[in-house]
Amino acid sequence: RNKGISDENVLNAINTVPRHVFLDSSFLNFAYQDKAFPIGSGQTISQPYTVAFQSSLLEIKKNMKVLEIGTGSGYQACVLAAMGAKVFSIERQRKLYTKTKAFLAEFPYRIKMFLGDGNKGLPTFGPFDRIIITAAAPEIPQALIDQLAIGGMMVIPLCENDDHQTMLRLTKQEDGSMKRETYGDFRFVPMLKNLGDD
Ligand code: SAH
Repeated sequence: RNKGISDENVLNAINTVPRHVFLDSSFLNFAYQDKAFPIGSGQTISQPYTVAFQSSLLEIKKNMKVLEIGTGSGYQACVLAAMGAKVFSIERQRKLYTKTKAFLAEFPYRIKMFLGDGNKGLPTFGPFDRIIITAAAPEIPQALIDQLAIGGMMVIPLCENDDHQTMLRLTKQEDGSMKRETYGDFRFVPMLKNLGDD
């Protein structure tokens, strides 16, 4: 709230989902700091502010179908589900996928997890009302634009250079074109292609 998040649905969800259970025990004391932390396999759980910011840009309404690229720890997926969304989330890292899938089974949320390359989306489950990418995207994947409903929004940290990304919100217009809004600089781990065992 102090950092400018005002969507009560987002703030409630952040209050509801306990972040400490998503972290390795060595980070337990830091779980409620506004920082990103390692979650294994070279990946990170996003900073709470970033999770809240992306969630706010999405303007989630109850029962919306939301596609997330980059499940990671599952924290962002749970926040979206706590906001009332039906979440479909793709992770390319096999180890993380397996670990997080077992972990998320303990939660009461509507989250379906998929192992795959998020660049391709989930053609058989679309169209989606919202799409969120939680890794630094070198380009806007055309498959994801195709799977976005008319009037739907996609939030994507698009690479500017090696150092940071610009947060974009793209809204699909009636004629299929995309309205583009920009929301400042962020830093994510890279969005990669294909499956990974690394
Ligand atoms: N939303 C996560 C943040 C994880 S970091 C959370 O709340 O914890 C980004 C994640 O994106 C990593 O787990 C990484 O493995 C994954 N990723 C990177 N490229 C991907 C791709 N092409 N498809 C799916 N997942 C990808």
